[in-house]
Amino acid sequence: MERVYNFSPGPSMLPVPALEKAAKEMLSYGSSGMSVVEMSHRSKVYMEIQKNAETLLRELMSIPDNYRVLFLQGGASQQFAMVPMNLYKTGKADYMKTGQFATKAIEEAARFTDVSVVASSEDKTFSYIPEFDRSKFNPDADYMHITSNNTIFGTRFTELPDTGNVPLVSDMSSCILSEVCDVSRFGLIYAGAQKNMGPAGVCVVIVRDDLVREPMEKTPLMLQYRTHVKEESLYNTPPGFSVYMCMNVFQWLKDLGGVPAIQKINEAKAKLLYDFLDESRLFKGTAERKDRSLMNVTFVTGSKEMDEEFVKSAAAAGLVTLAGHRSVGGMRASIYNAMPVEGVEKLVKFMKEFEAARG
Ligand code: PMP
Repeated sequence: MERVYNFSPGPSMLPVPALEKAAKEMLSYGSSGMSVVEMSHRSKVYMEIQKNAETLLRELMSIPDNYRVLFLQGGASQQFAMVPMNLYKTGKADYMKTGQFATKAIEEAARFTDVSVVASSEDKTFSYIPEFDRSKFNPDADYMHITSNNTIFGTRFTELPDTGNVPLVSDMSSCILSEVCDVSRFGLIYAGAQKNMGPAGVCVVIVRDDLVREPMEKTPLMLQYRTHVKEESLYNTPPGFSVYMCMNVFQWLKDLGGVPAIQKINEAKAKLLYDFLDESRLFKGTAERKDRSLMNVTFVTGSKEMDEEFVKSAAAAGLVTLAGHRSVGGMRASIYNAMPVEGVEKLVKFMKEFEAARG
């Protein structure tokens, strides 16, 4: 069976060399005589895998030395709670409401802290990134939370809010490693692996040392950053295979030239699609131009039936998982790091033919 171009928003396509390496090593990793999925997480060989994954990520993102890198479980969704529980000091936090996951983060945080929504794009179905009005920011908030890339509605922050001394926290699940990012602008970054890093099961947290502090009372040990910092992400059994796959993906990205190189490719891929959407008579992009995501390209034909027909016929042509999120419909092409340029070229060609066939 030939591989398809999979435009899934996550879990998503992974680079073939990373998958091939895993296939080759499935029965015996190195000289261990066993698969990574069979290994004790306390073994030297596994600990080297995890260290190597961390070293590669630090290199790729130029993570400063005063930040810890954690490999946790519970997905990005668990961070919606861990962030307010661990950063709790004054009991106030600012949030920007720019999508469905930002909304979930807000709802979860509101269970633990006093949340202020300081900017929102809900009035236009999250199709843009709102202007920030600094006068609305709370100078004594414990942190400000943003969602750097909006996976469902296809927008991204191209500029960061200036929060002064208030730490900036970002959910980068759907854009981590897609473009150059200055980690020092953030207090904490988190991202589920299943888009740009590896299989589901691991969530990467990059946290500045001073934010690894005493959490709110009764925070379970498993939900404390300081537990995982102290135990180097080995407090309990980690998702070893996911971490190992992340290592393979990080190595692939490094060999390719790192984040600056993939950013260029991502910009070129997104341009191919957006340029076509801008000239098309049938398809229309749904995100405001200035805020368009490089990773999730959302579009519609204007007819629900036609959208469904498009998704179905594209799948038959080997271009799969193009349906928009179940809450919004339409189409969404997720073109993460591992989506080759050829996949996007093939999609644009297919869209042109689909349009031409309908006059
Ligand atoms: N945040 C964003 C931006 C996401 O795209 C997702 C998942 N698609 C999540 C959070 C939730 O991640 P998880 O399923 O890993 O909990």
